[in-house]
Order: sequence, then structure tokens, then C-alpha cells
Amino acid sequence: MSIKKVMVIGAGQMGSGIAQVCAQAGFDVLLNDMNEVAIDKGLANIEKLLTRAVDKERITAEEKENTLNNLTKSTQLQDAKSCDLVIEAVIENMDVKTKVFQQLDEITPKHAILASNTSSLPITEIAAVTKRPDQVIGMHFMNPVPVMKLVEIIRGLQTSDETYQAIENMTNELRKTPVEVNDFPGFVSNRILMPMINEAIYTVYEGVATPEDVDTVMKLGMNHPMGPLTLADFIGLDTCLYIMEVLYEGFGDSKYRPCPLLRKYVKAGWLGKKSGRGFYEYN
Ligand code: NAD
Repeated sequence: MSIKKVMVIGAGQMGSGIAQVCAQAGFDVLLNDMNEVAIDKGLANIEKLLTRAVDKERITAEEKENTLNNLTKSTQLQDAKSCDLVIEAVIENMDVKTKVFQQLDEITPKHAILASNTSSLPITEIAAVTKRPDQVIGMHFMNPVPVMKLVEIIRGLQTSDETYQAIENMTNELRKTPVEVNDFPGFVSNRILMPMINEAIYTVYEGVATPEDVDTVMKLGMNHPMGPLTLADFIGLDTCLYIMEVLYEGFGDSKYRPCPLLRKYVKAGWLGKKSGRGFYEYN
């Protein structure tokens, strides 16, 4: 199957990055969000990143123009009627995602593949709300999308080989490295990463060390490029909490219980870098 036109739903930090790499690879991209301000912010951010890449001579001015020309704003899900692939990147919430997939199943052409950028939610369950579970797949990009090479490709129970192959080919066209994983809570990346972040939050909660010191230990002691609390702020504390809840529920194992301090920060609206405050403060 040949993919030409792509809709990315959710113009937040992940959706705008996914739209950028798809447009840079020559796909015709619709960037959709229910919030027009989010789309404008996403597009402005893409333009800023491309301008920086031109300044650093990593891409040409012509490549920048072509990429921007490949991007179109969309506020109507109905625009997906002409797309070969939809990549959903709305918030990490099963009810919100399944509503989007039910609508997409009605709107998109029969051949279209429906992918989710979920960090942890079961692809099999998302696929089950559609009449095409064989054409539903997880396409888990890493943050920041234009920089990170990995895409975890998650096969739901009914994902067909044809769908898998089309998405693996597309991932290669985006110049990313695909890794095939099966549908299990947190997949591989977040099953390993999030408990580490949650444990780092526990060390702050229990007064073992300050956020700065926890991050320094992991950076200088374990050679991590970024401390776990800086990374948590960067990912979004709401997203971290959603993922821990998926692991806790999915495995039914108390070792995955979200740290109360994480819950408290999310309730306070301290969501990390995107809200200006998390474990650190941002201007
Ligand atoms: P975000 O909060 O930055 O953006 C979410 C966007 O979705 C918002 O702009 C919101 O307006 C929009 N939205 C919500 N409901 C919508 C709907 N029904 N229709 C259209 N738009 C809608 O979130 P994010 O960090 O970009 O995360 C998005 C997804 O990507 C989540 O599933 C998350 O788990 C996953 N993910 C996040 C990271 C990360 O590091 N943040 C990494 C990999 C995957």
C-alpha cells in the first residue's frame, strides 16, 4: 500500500514533531487539532526549528520551504476523508482516543491505516472500537521527534502483516529506526523508563535527595544525558502519571503504583516544561 497523504491529530509537542518529520520526508500532511491556537503554536514551532536547521546548514532554504508547503492546517476531523494514514497524538486518555478512532473509522477511506502514538495504552483495545482492527497499529515516536531516531511499532492482536509492513516502510522513509514490539502495557520503552522516573520521584518524596541531586546522580553516575526529573518535566508530568496508571492497572502489581507526589503536582497543574512548572521552573 502506498502512503501519500497523512493526517496528524493533536498539535501538541508530539503531534507537531510528527507532522514536521512527515512533511520533511515529502508526505502531504494535515495537522489537526480541535484547538486552533495549538495548531498555530505547533506550526510556528516547526518553522522555528526549520529556520534553525537552515542557519546551521543542516537543511537548505528550499527544503524548509518544501516542508512548510507540505503542511496544511485542519480543525475538522472530516478532512481525514482523503488520507491514507492517520497518526493520532491526542492526550494519553483511552476515552478520548477511542472516540477519535470511532470517528476516523467512519470518515477515512477503507484502505486507510489508523495509527496511535500512544505511550502505553493497549493498541488492541483501541483497534477494537473500529471495524478495521487489522489496519490499526501503534507508532510510538520519541520526544523530541525531529531528533530521536527510534519509532516503536506496536502490533495489536489483530494488526495484519500488510499494515505492519506499510508502517515499517514509512518509518524508514522518515529516516527513523523501527523496532517491532508486541502489545503489552508500556510496550518496551515506557515499561522500563517510567518506573525509573517514578522511583526518582519517590526519592524526592521521601526526602532522600533534592531533584537537582537526583538528576546529578543519574547524569554523572550513570552517564544518562539528562536526569530523570528533568526528563519527566520534558515529557509532561500528566503523561508520566497516565503511563504509570496504565502499568499499575495493566499488570496489577503494586511495584508500579504512581508516587503520591506525582499525583499532587499534576493536580496542582504543575505539568512540567509545557506549563512552566514541574520539578523545575521554566520561563
Ligand atoms: P500535548 O498535551 O502536548 O498535546 C495534545 C494535543 O491534543 C493538544 O494540542 C490538544 O488540544 C489535542 N487534543 C486533545 N483532544 C483532541 C481531540 N479529540 N481532537 C484533536 N485534538 C485533540 O501532549 P503530547 O505530549 O504531544 O502527547 C500526545 C500523545 O503522545 C500522548 O498519547 C502521549 O502519551 C504520546 N507521547 C508523548 C511523549 C512525550 O514525551 N510527551 C512521547 C511519546 C508519546
